[in-house]
Amino acid sequence: MGNYLENSDCGGIGGSGSIGRNGVRRVDRRITLIVVHCTATRVDRDFPEQELLRYHRARGMKMVGYHFYIRKDGFIHSTRPLEMVGAHAKRYNTESIGIAYEGGLSPQGLPADTRTQRQKYSMRALIRTLKKEFAISRVCGHRDLSPDRNGNGVVEPHEWMKQCPCFDVVGDAWCE
Ligand SMILES: [Zn+2]
Repeated sequence: MGNYLENSDCGGIGGSGSIGRNGVRRVDRRITLIVVHCTATRVDRDFPEQELLRYHRARGMKMVGYHFYIRKDGFIHSTRPLEMVGAHAKRYNTESIGIAYEGGLSPQGLPADTRTQRQKYSMRALIRTLKKEFAISRVCGHRDLSPDRNGNGVVEPHEWMKQCPCFDVVGDAWCE
């Protein structure tokens, strides 16, 4: 049994983003969990998807560890095929989808929910769509998972702070 994700309408997510390519794509892994992250970058700084990719590549990854990246303008970038296991939440990667939003730090560098309205809309639309396509039983923030963050040999931005993703995912609107 696989999961299927239909992407015939690229304009449907936040009005700007897309989930992968057109058509129906088979996903041969069981996906039950969505983990939300932030990039732990300051809200007043831009962190383009190219920089995110460069950052993860510099740490030995072939591509971005998250499956989706939501910029401040609400655009959703598909940064890793869903059929590929992510690299974003140790011990939870095999069954999860990783979503990161750009930001998470105040201009002073303190953890904060810096999501723009567009980011919030896009994140909710994306998560709702994924919940329809997969048998998702849990949506949580990175900080809601095990605090054991050592030993994977890769120091990612979200590991610099324990608050990731800097807001209460479980209490948000997609969990009804
Ligand atoms: Zn994280």
